[in-house]
Amino acid sequence: MTAPLAATHTDGVASASFVEKRPLEQYVAPAKPSLVGLSRGALAEALGAIGVPQRQHRMRVQQIWHWLYVRGAQEFDEMTTLAKDLRSALAQHFTLARPEIAAEQVSVDGTRKWLLRLPGEVDSRPHEVECVYIPEADRGTLCISSQVGCTLNCTFCHTGTQRLVRNLTPGEIVGQVVMARDRLGDWTPTNELHPPLKGGGDHERRTRLVSNVVMMGMGEPLYNFEAVRDGLNVVADGDGLSISKRRITLSTSGVVPNIARTGTEIGVMLAVSLHAVTDELRNELVPLNRKYPLRELLDACRDYPGISNARRVTFEYVMLKSINDSLADAKALVRLVKGIPAKINLIPFNPWPGSTYECSDWEQIEKFSEVVFNAGYASPVRTPRGRDILAACGQLKSATEKLSARERLALRAMAMTD
Ligand code: SAH
Ligand code: SF4
Repeated sequence: MTAPLAATHTDGVASASFVEKRPLEQYVAPAKPSLVGLSRGALAEALGAIGVPQRQHRMRVQQIWHWLYVRGAQEFDEMTTLAKDLRSALAQHFTLARPEIAAEQVSVDGTRKWLLRLPGEVDSRPHEVECVYIPEADRGTLCISSQVGCTLNCTFCHTGTQRLVRNLTPGEIVGQVVMARDRLGDWTPTNELHPPLKGGGDHERRTRLVSNVVMMGMGEPLYNFEAVRDGLNVVADGDGLSISKRRITLSTSGVVPNIARTGTEIGVMLAVSLHAVTDELRNELVPLNRKYPLRELLDACRDYPGISNARRVTFEYVMLKSINDSLADAKALVRLVKGIPAKINLIPFNPWPGSTYECSDWEQIEKFSEVVFNAGYASPVRTPRGRDILAACGQLKSATEKLSARERLALRAMAMTD
């Protein structure tokens, strides 16, 4: 029997023995729904609902798909391959709305962070989630959210302290990518469309600014499985946004029953937030471990559909000073993942006001990384980006819980001293 979980939070949210909070499932959908994020099937249904004859569905869906996801149309009137009547019928019943941008910040290192406003419950304030763009020499990675807040309560994670949780819809998931392409001017211009692009995939003729997507923002994606699956399948569609599944990574804290489904129903790259090499410590850092312990989690990784040396599972490991960063931990880590085609990502802990952990010393991270490297694993240390705008991992926290001026100052001070 497992011992009762010790209270891990000090903010009054946590009772003594909980693994997860419950999400709010209701929100007020906009009166006029947006077509952004609908699957082809749902788009055909929407056309049917406004009287488009069924025999036209396939072609109209193809045309609208192209305008939405290749050209980034923001108004139905841009869709010049559709008859005027159809355009106005569409405009009467639907929108092309993306998540509303409440704020945009650009870091000195080029990282961009958007605060997005999403509809809330009846009579409640709108929700907010964050989305971050990280440009690098050979790629541009968009970090997107799957939930407002998170039902889980990892002790080192700022998002976990947020009380309110709601699942994002597929439209809100796809909408983050569409919004980023809007803001970055990352759509295919008309002069690149002759002959029309077909199944762009990885063979896009120009490098996209948003070339990679990681589901590592707010929320536990495998607790919002269907919406994440449907949304990511739209993001990966080769005739649309065309971000190949090899360039999409989903990070989970270890929702074992949905790991195999992620491989078969989505087919994206898998990252697992490991963070500890014993159940005892992982129970504390990632309380979900009490439900799905290490052994089951590692078995699910070993059996991940499509796993190979070319498609490795990434293990994320946050470096917490004197908690999980000893060289014995490093050795145990390589023993634990033995036999699994794996990469190991060491993440320096990003402190936040009220957090009780410290980031491991740089020297210790280097020594730890050497052990992992000598065991044959690439062990890049993920450099925190955008710290001046609080965009680094685990610091995504919605403004629904406003930071006090003092907290803001403290955070800024931390960013500056890094
Ligand atoms: N819920 C999912 C995905 C979002 S968190 C998950 O837990 O995997 C994305 C990554 O950031 C996870 O590996 C998470 O453990 C890590 N993370 C969370 N808080 C952090 C912090 N304060 N410092 C560094 N990494 C953190
Ligand atoms: Fe949720 Fe992931 Fe944060 Fe854990 S680390 S609380 S699963 S967002």
